[in-house]
Amino acid sequence: MEHHAVLGTILSAKAGTKMPRKNRRNSAEEHQPLDLERIAGGFKRTEFKRDKDWNVQPISASRALKEYVCPGCFGQIAVGVPHVTVWEAEAMFGDEAGLRDRRHWHSRCWEIH
Ligand SMILES: [Zn+2]
Repeated sequence: MEHHAVLGTILSAKAGTKMPRKNRRNSAEEHQPLDLERIAGGFKRTEFKRDKDWNVQPISASRALKEYVCPGCFGQIAVGVPHVTVWEAEAMFGDEAGLRDRRHWHSRCWEIH
């Protein structure tokens, strides 16, 4: 019967919808929070300072594995010194770009900045 033929077509069409899910890059949930978790030495917070919102991520001593130059005092942040990383909360190219551009500050220098 005609009906059966039509039903068969619908069923096989449905079976064929198992397409590989790629190219879903524009979905906001897709970006991996890998970076955020890797640098997590404490809870990230947002601070409003100098007319901007900033993400402030504390870095614990055990995660301070490199030397950095603090933009506040231009002094060195030695390995093993707990400090904070700071990046713009509303970075022009999104959170990931902001993360790449994050700066390491002495906690105290950031506080008084
Ligand atoms: Zn400093």
